[in-house]
Amino acid sequence: MAPVSEVAEQFTELYGHAPDGVWSAPGRVNLIGEYTDVNEGFVMPLALPHTVVAAVSRRTDGVLRLHSADIDAPVVELRIDELTPLSDGGWAAYPAGVVWALRAAGHPVGGADLHLASTVPTGAGLSSSAALEVVTALALNDLFELGLSRPELAVLSQRAENAFVGVPCGVMDQMASACCTEGHALHLDCRDLSIRQVPFDLAAHGLRLLVVDTRVKHELGDGAYAERRAGCEEGARALGVSHLRDVPYAELGDALARLTDEKVRRYVRHIVTDDERVERIIGLLDAGDVRGIGPALTEGHASLRDDFRISCPELDLAVETANTAGAYGARMTGGGFGGSALLLVEAAEAETVTKSVEAAFAAAGYTAPRVFPAVASPGARREV
Ligand code: ADP
Ligand code: MG
Repeated sequence: MAPVSEVAEQFTELYGHAPDGVWSAPGRVNLIGEYTDVNEGFVMPLALPHTVVAAVSRRTDGVLRLHSADIDAPVVELRIDELTPLSDGGWAAYPAGVVWALRAAGHPVGGADLHLASTVPTGAGLSSSAALEVVTALALNDLFELGLSRPELAVLSQRAENAFVGVPCGVMDQMASACCTEGHALHLDCRDLSIRQVPFDLAAHGLRLLVVDTRVKHELGDGAYAERRAGCEEGARALGVSHLRDVPYAELGDALARLTDEKVRRYVRHIVTDDERVERIIGLLDAGDVRGIGPALTEGHASLRDDFRISCPELDLAVETANTAGAYGARMTGGGFGGSALLLVEAAEAETVTKSVEAAFAAAGYTAPRVFPAVASPGARREV
């Protein structure tokens, strides 16, 4: 985490007055349930120790000033009554979008000064954007005493990203950043946003979850996300349900037989089986069989690679190498076409597996990956 006192000092230097407070919000990895959020299904993210830390002060004159220590650009100054969706405001669109979404929902936000620093890698599929939105939403909720709940803040943050920034993401990332708790994975029902904190203390089991950030982002990703979502909607329509979440796993065979489009059939199979894998993994975790979730993770990868087709050679190599080197299971996580993979390994073997993956990437001529452990960390909170 970026040091809280440093961010507060930078704020004071920048704006000439002290912040009213400092807040943080984490990035996340998703253990299982990919693209299921936009099908009103189930997901299971956990918060990372990597966070966006924001020092913020309240203003009442309608001015919004935004600055990031991580971007080489001056303070962005905006008027809150002139905020326009999709106006290509660069990075500032994320926090400005939150102000816009709060105001559009009728919440009295009068302006703010904000300065942030982040340790969430950007564009690595670890949701730096959601962390940025949620930290802004939480700070404004406190400063203007809006009284909104965590799920409400997450939904408004999602709305900022969808309608203001223009990214058609689901609600998982914002819910994870807002609602995760230390030592737990978040079992989230993306239909009614009900949550359950599932104990996920890998160290207590002698295990480790490694994140392999491939540091690649293939172009294909942007169009593919919308295409997959549209394909899922087409599948739901063809099956006469509002969302694919309503196709029971037990009836998957029948459902697939009714679909004529080969591609839509693959998409449906991925979504319905991934929802089932979320349930299966929860059953195993509840039974204390953490090692037992490994095969379901690897199955989830195969489903994303072969049915949903959003993997890429780097992610496949990370997964295959890890499994050959003794991981219990592995999968790509996030939107695909690059970003990160997750490996479940014996803690004592973490170094060996990491070296194997690094060696395999070097041998293939790929960019060296960044490998680090994912420890289930706290969700967004006020630091000072
Ligand atoms: P991800 O959420 O997977 O990291 P996105 O493309 O959704 O990737 O969001 C990344 C964008 O979020 C960046 O391009 C930038 O606009 C914004 N962002 C993330 N972190 C920061 C930061 N520390 N400072 C400024 N902008 C940031
Ligand atoms: Mg994002």
